[in-house]
Amino acid sequence: MPRGAPRIRPSPITSSVDLEQDGVQHGFLKLPYSRDDSAWGAVMIPLAVIKRGAGATALLTGGNHGDEYEGPIALMKLASALDAQRLRGRVIIVPAMNYPAFRAGRRTSPIDARNMNRVFPGRPDGTVTEKIADYFQRTLLPVADVVVDIHSGGKTLEFVPFAAMHRLPHKEQEARGIAAVEAFNAPYSVMLLEIDNVGMYDTAAEEMGKVFVSTELGGGGTARAATVAIAERGLRNVLIHAGILDEPRQTHPSVWLAMPGDDCFVTAEGAGLLEPCVDLGAKVRAGEVVARIHDPERTGSTAVEYRARIDGILAGRHVPGLAQSGDCLAVVAVPRG
Ligand code: ZN
Repeated sequence: MPRGAPRIRPSPITSSVDLEQDGVQHGFLKLPYSRDDSAWGAVMIPLAVIKRGAGATALLTGGNHGDEYEGPIALMKLASALDAQRLRGRVIIVPAMNYPAFRAGRRTSPIDARNMNRVFPGRPDGTVTEKIADYFQRTLLPVADVVVDIHSGGKTLEFVPFAAMHRLPHKEQEARGIAAVEAFNAPYSVMLLEIDNVGMYDTAAEEMGKVFVSTELGGGGTARAATVAIAERGLRNVLIHAGILDEPRQTHPSVWLAMPGDDCFVTAEGAGLLEPCVDLGAKVRAGEVVARIHDPERTGSTAVEYRARIDGILAGRHVPGLAQSGDCLAVVAVPRG
């Protein structure tokens, strides 16, 4: 196909369930992937569609990064719990978008080393991760009205639990996003200014005019009871907000935070033994030491201090006990009036 020609190649992915059929369907997105241990094999990505009649469509995803667990847990539970008779509209659930990464417990796919959240719009004739992205881009996102993508920090980051949206050029779309984030009702709500948004699922959905809610609900390569509960409550709250579920909404106070720019991030400039000096959720002042990196090879050397660049609260931190140069050590977010 010549460069610049319209892309009309069909997706190699087929769905074992009918997106238009009423009722509860549990099935798979089947992506052919022939390999040494499975000639003519396929990647089977779990999918649930719960639908009753006409109404809004919610597309709910987790496992965009494979080492983040609140999304897959809450979505597996939601797929089993939703009763089609009590819905109006449709809920499409994919608990682990980057299924090969999820099964490997890795952020990126073990098949092609691609980060799902950097390959959009994907390619029908690309790598496994690109083919999955293309299916979302051309088949699932277009039918959705509201999209929730549950992230956590993964193995190398941990966050205070928040739902997030991006600053958007269209203020009406931005307002719908703010309303959906408030509906999700995590302990914190964040307005993100994305510095590297090329290839993100978020950007793909937003460019189609969809209401898009993302989250960071914890991290460290595991889930906690409290953060799973936040994911479960938030997903139901968004379905209620979209008019798909009719039940009382549980709400708690949420604090709006902003991450206004690069000043929010504290980055390691050397490797070593990481000493966290402030815990998640604590207030920090500009200039305050938030972490130290100690020389792991000898006693008697001076630790390198890392300081917050702005006033705010510690919203994110590096997790493993050892740090390398370039690691995101701390994220400071600013409470909004
Ligand atoms: Zn993630």
